[in-house]
Amino acid sequence: MKIKRILSGMRPTGKLHIGHYVGALENWINLQNSGQYQNFHLIADYHVLTTGLDSSNIYNDSIEMLIDWLASGLDPNKSPMFRQSKIKEHTELHLIFSMLITTSRLERNPTLKDQVRDLNLENMSYGHLGYPVLQTADILLYKGEVVPVGEDQVPHIEISREIARKFNAQYGEVFIEPIPLLTKFSRLVGLDGNAKMSKSLGNSILLSDEKEIVKAKLKKAVTDPQKLRKGDPGRPEVCLVFSYHKKFNSEEINLIETDCKSGLLGCFDCKMKCVEKISSFLEPIIAKRKELESNMNYVLDVLSDGERKGKLEAEKTISDVRAKMGIG
Ligand code: SF4
Repeated sequence: MKIKRILSGMRPTGKLHIGHYVGALENWINLQNSGQYQNFHLIADYHVLTTGLDSSNIYNDSIEMLIDWLASGLDPNKSPMFRQSKIKEHTELHLIFSMLITTSRLERNPTLKDQVRDLNLENMSYGHLGYPVLQTADILLYKGEVVPVGEDQVPHIEISREIARKFNAQYGEVFIEPIPLLTKFSRLVGLDGNAKMSKSLGNSILLSDEKEIVKAKLKKAVTDPQKLRKGDPGRPEVCLVFSYHKKFNSEEINLIETDCKSGLLGCFDCKMKCVEKISSFLEPIIAKRKELESNMNYVLDVLSDGERKGKLEAEKTISDVRAKMGIG
């Protein structure tokens, strides 16, 4: 069986929350352990600059994120992890690819339109418009064949496929067109009911949150507004706590649904059950995180080893690209 190459990354935003785990990390770990894929994971520190120029925390945020990756189960012996900014070939391939796509094609990207709306952007930088082109360079530099993504990222992969096709047609075969691999449970609703869990919105549960913190946060979570007290029939389908149960407490989900609807279960008790489940899920991650924090040399070694492996792959690809193009 041919082992397929996976490339996937995250912007370094510091400590991760359970939404990151559910939307990406869990999938990466399953794929890594399936024996069918070779994973490469990118700390996308250049991508951070597309929506903010302050780079003062990028290094620390990258390390915090790496610790969460390792604590959750990414194995550096199977899955190299590296920073985009340490491998200069990303910028070279990005430049070459930027000649292979029109600005009007990038402006039609629906994900970009959503970002403009969500971030209330009045003006967009040239770099932000080209975000999917840099992402294409990230994927194709490692000859990524499969990209695990949520549905909102599928249009970006389509752009990557187009660029790979265009390059191959113009200069000769170098790249495989990558295919998206949809993440099954791609999003977790925020504690305030916002469709997206986000640290900046203050509506998240971090992978490093101890039980008391999880409890305090979940106590404030919004539920079905029509269920005011125990005894009132509830509507689990509109309740975010129920969506957390679906993910972290699947064995009790039918009972919770029935008891919520009948009014037998009150929201406070339901939330406390949820606290127990989420906290027991987080317990080993927190323990591993503490172990890693007390051995930072190991964490930095993981990073430099990943960067060495990533660099080797990137150099090979750029060498092929240059040869086909007759440059350099
Ligand atoms: S009982 Fe649970 S599922 Fe039902 S509305 Fe309250 S918190 Fe939500």
